[in-house]
Amino acid sequence: SGGKAEREIPFAQPGSLTKVYAIASGKGGVGKSSVTVNLALAMAKQGLKVGVVDADIYGHSVPAMLGVADARPTQVDDLIMPVPTPSGVSVISIGMLKPRRDQVVAWRGPMLDRALVQMLSDVYWGDLDVLLLDLPPGTGDVAISLGQHLPNAEVVVITTPQEAAAEVAERAGTMASMMHQRVVGVVENMSFLTLPDGSTMEVFGSGGGDRVARTLSERFGYDVSVLGRIPLDPSLREGGDAGKPIVESDPTSPAARELLSIADAL
Ligand code: ADP
Repeated sequence: SGGKAEREIPFAQPGSLTKVYAIASGKGGVGKSSVTVNLALAMAKQGLKVGVVDADIYGHSVPAMLGVADARPTQVDDLIMPVPTPSGVSVISIGMLKPRRDQVVAWRGPMLDRALVQMLSDVYWGDLDVLLLDLPPGTGDVAISLGQHLPNAEVVVITTPQEAAAEVAERAGTMASMMHQRVVGVVENMSFLTLPDGSTMEVFGSGGGDRVARTLSERFGYDVSVLGRIPLDPSLREGGDAGKPIVESDPTSPAARELLSIADAL
């Protein structure tokens, strides 16, 4: 038809050596993006070449958390170069595909699908060991598109201990399974707060991570386990706000240690 032939998605080719993890949650605000950027840096510390795709249409907070808030990707011929971050991971965000930063785009099904394919196939990723995708919360169009284009992606489900978060997280996990993706595990975030006297407080209740893992295991017939429980920690938020994630800014803190151990388990 005279149109440009669509490039293939390298990560979907048989024999691709890149591990792909989609980070999913049922609702926003549970720490999905924070976990994504910290896992990316933790894996980079292991010597792996890591790329991050920020596909969260509601937030696109990943570039800021990685210290490249205002960066725009450059273009070489018809290839988009991902933005390098100070910590050595490469990132592309759906927000970077907008002509203007402050533009409001009502991303919808077909457009979202095109944007996702563009971030996977028109971006020059090089030979990555790991690609992490920060998905929008819920079971929307991006999750469906991703399942169609990258059925080999493995899914990590983020929840808080809270019942309401766990219930919607189960739905996000079930959606991934319907798209033939494997759920590799559950991360419970904001699990507890350690008080100055050393005691712990379960600010958001307890049991959410276990509940999601149990339900998904029963539903899928394979073992889905809790990969880790990350405590509430003001320096985790500060690290994200400052563009220096906690695994780098405070690597010996309990929250960072848990994130590093989750990266080891993946
Ligand atoms: P999501 O991607 O699920 O919407 P974010 O990663 O943007 O969530 O996190 C929402 C807010 O909560 C951010 O301000 C983040 O810094 C903060 N946050 C996330 N996890 C923790 C934690 N374990 N301790 C303290 N603050 C956290």
